[in-house]
Amino acid sequence: MNRFETALVHAGRDDFREAGVHAPPIDLSTTYPVADLDQGTASFDALVAGQASAANPIYARLHNPTVARTESALARLEGTEACVAFGSGMAALTAVLMARRAHGGHVLVVRPLYGTSDHLLASGLCGIEAEFVDADEIAARLRPDTALVIIETPANPTLDLVDIRAVVAAAGAVPVLVDSTFATPVLQNPAALGARYVLHSATKFLGGHGDVIAGVVCCEEPLAQPLRTVRAATGGLLHPLAAYLLHRGLPTLALRVERAQANAREIAARLAAHPQVARVFYPGLGTVRNAALAETQMRGPGALMAFEMVGGHRAAAMVMRSVALMTPAVSLGSVDTLIQHPSGLTHRVVSAADKTANGITEGLLRLSVGIEHVEDLWADLAQALDRAAADGCQKAA
Ligand SMILES: *Cc1c(COP(=O)(O)O)cnc(C)c1O
Repeated sequence: MNRFETALVHAGRDDFREAGVHAPPIDLSTTYPVADLDQGTASFDALVAGQASAANPIYARLHNPTVARTESALARLEGTEACVAFGSGMAALTAVLMARRAHGGHVLVVRPLYGTSDHLLASGLCGIEAEFVDADEIAARLRPDTALVIIETPANPTLDLVDIRAVVAAAGAVPVLVDSTFATPVLQNPAALGARYVLHSATKFLGGHGDVIAGVVCCEEPLAQPLRTVRAATGGLLHPLAAYLLHRGLPTLALRVERAQANAREIAARLAAHPQVARVFYPGLGTVRNAALAETQMRGPGALMAFEMVGGHRAAAMVMRSVALMTPAVSLGSVDTLIQHPSGLTHRVVSAADKTANGITEGLLRLSVGIEHVEDLWADLAQALDRAAADGCQKAA
């Protein structure tokens, strides 16, 4: 089998020569002619039951060849048998929760998590009882109706790392879902460490250009089938144009992640030495929980970091207002650098007590470093930090 970098360029494109094309065809059909009724009926049954494909796609909510092509590429990159794509990361997580309900109504969740994932789980919207635990409590909290264990590593926004192998061992027969959005398959392959579901908000690094909302779940084929059934029933589809854009971004994924990571290492080191910054959370600096995993379970610390401003909320708001090259915006993993305030934006829906317990303070900013020249990025950030200082947000003498 080809190596990872080659697979990035060629996965999901292996039939091109035979098909006589050099870019993926986009199929926008909502419905497909059914000339042979018996074949159509058999195809319908197979797709509703969650088969990956059938002789006739029937209807685009059941199957789309452009989406299936992108899914096959992502399965290859995560080293799983299958991948099921959804209209967003949240639709993907919702589908997993709905599919797991057949196995019990209880899930164990390690915080911190992406704010909306936290909200979806804590709110009970999917009819699941989520119990929030520390990673080392998992074995003790398993119940007969525990259907899933959910972790996010690196975690949003504090970049805590969670030991996937240890969680898989603690969970025993209960499948573990890893939200690997921050790592991408360039830096981490949770399935190789025993995770049964690997979830990505493909909106982030996988799409990589800030123009696609998508979510994917990579898993074994028997686990993929209920996800397809849920997708067909609830309609949380990835549109074929979005699937095309997602596939189009993959060949440069390793180049983008490696360049962004190199920039991030440099910026994290400079931030750590800056008088306006109280603390930097970055696995590459060893300043997050389980930082050593960045070099063992991961292949590098990644391109995301968070930092705590001296001067709290006011200083953080001044940095958001003052950056000119960086975009002050939520989301992450784009070619351009994004900076945002977790407490006020992405983690707004998390309760105040849970924010405090998980280090989501008023002075915390999260930085998703892009692939620009590092000196231009630093010049922009440094002038924004200077403005915060000039605004009177200095460290108390
Ligand atoms: C953005 C994000 C999500 C949600 O994905 P959407 O595509 O925005 O629905 C889930 N998990 C993590 C870690 C994220 O960053």
